[in-house]
Amino acid sequence: MKTIILCLTFLFSSLVFAQTHSEVAELLKNKGLQDLQAYELLKDLISSVGTRLSGSEGYEKAVQWGKKQLELAGADSVWLEPVMIPKWVRGPVEKAEACVSGKTVELTICALGGTIGTPKGGVTGLVIEVHNFDEVKALGEKAKGKIIFYNRPFDRTKVNTGEAYGGAVNQRANGAIEAAKVGAIGVLVRTMTNALDDEPHTGMMRYNDTIMKIPAAAVSTIDANALSAMIAQEKNVSVTIQLSAKTFPDVPSFTVIGQITGSEKPNEIILVGGHLDSWDKGTGAHDDGSGVVHSIEVIRLIKFLKLKPTRTIRAVLFANEENGSRGGRAYAAFAKNTGEKHLAAIESDAGGFLPRGFGVSTDSIRFDKIRSYSSLLEIVGTEKIKKGGGGEDIGYLESLGTVMIGLNPESQRYFDFHHSNHDTIDKVHPRELEFGAIAMSILSWVLSQDGI
Ligand SMILES: [Zn+2]
Repeated sequence: MKTIILCLTFLFSSLVFAQTHSEVAELLKNKGLQDLQAYELLKDLISSVGTRLSGSEGYEKAVQWGKKQLELAGADSVWLEPVMIPKWVRGPVEKAEACVSGKTVELTICALGGTIGTPKGGVTGLVIEVHNFDEVKALGEKAKGKIIFYNRPFDRTKVNTGEAYGGAVNQRANGAIEAAKVGAIGVLVRTMTNALDDEPHTGMMRYNDTIMKIPAAAVSTIDANALSAMIAQEKNVSVTIQLSAKTFPDVPSFTVIGQITGSEKPNEIILVGGHLDSWDKGTGAHDDGSGVVHSIEVIRLIKFLKLKPTRTIRAVLFANEENGSRGGRAYAAFAKNTGEKHLAAIESDAGGFLPRGFGVSTDSIRFDKIRSYSSLLEIVGTEKIKKGGGGEDIGYLESLGTVMIGLNPESQRYFDFHHSNHDTIDKVHPRELEFGAIAMSILSWVLSQDGI
């Protein structure tokens, strides 16, 4: 009798062990869609933490929240990886007005992340509209003492709005440097969106230590059009910008990590991740609350189903993606030191919309292998495996030979909300969000079993 029971137990456990990839995919899908736990997690993150700008109290709360949630998800180990992060504070004042023929028109603006503040009364200068850096260079002496207004819109013919963003965002990132080179005293940048509305979107801007730092703000697309029309009508339009933003010394903080340790090859890592910080506008529900809860949900689903991955599946909630990428850099340094082998990293940082597939950056052999999982991923509609992809946080692992994979959700609405007061939980659909988590669970599971 005892032998029979033992045999049956062995048979049962080997049956469980011998589940095919498509059986596991089916179980992950069913459990995910039954519970919709990613959305519950996101609701909790937004209501109990809120915005999570690096260096803020909100970010520190998010660290503790992330640690607790990874523990609750059943991770075998959870830890905090130290990292120094920047501290930039918007402050209460962000105002701009245009003055034309004695009339004053208020412009809806917000400070760009990292900008310096202005003197109390602001900076005032005649405004010059430009569309690219060649036009700025060509201004030469004419730019001295002026405000440069970057007004190149998104290319609306781009199907993927991420590409349109990529084609416009250098105005925001490097606009202040280029304008300061020719002696400008401030910068206004058209908001990075296809939407025509009165909501300015923030986002990172840079300075160069050898070039004068000048204040920089985003202007809503409606007011960018209005300002452009004023300039077309009247030559001498002046603008005053007032900002109270300030940068403080770096502060110590953490990236949050939790994992299911591989049963046979614990030192081979399949990473899933998103960034725990957000901007201080809205609540970072899509950017990147979605990536955070996707990653935690991967751990929960796999643990709940008592699946035992051969290789380690590790969820990483990166610190400070938005204004410094310190978390991504520090993690890559950590990965190098541990001697672990990061086989693949899957990043979710493009919103919680219905996922369509994954973008993959690697050699053609490994790309083909990942593409061969298309039929498995079809179960949640994420079978489009495209060349090229990854993400800001995992990008620093590329030099270690890691396969870079980015989750690709539907992109049409993302930049309507991105980095603005519009990025709130009512823009996230519970089922759409869960599909991302399930797709990441399936892909991380098969990679943990098959290697890459
Ligand atoms: Zn993001």
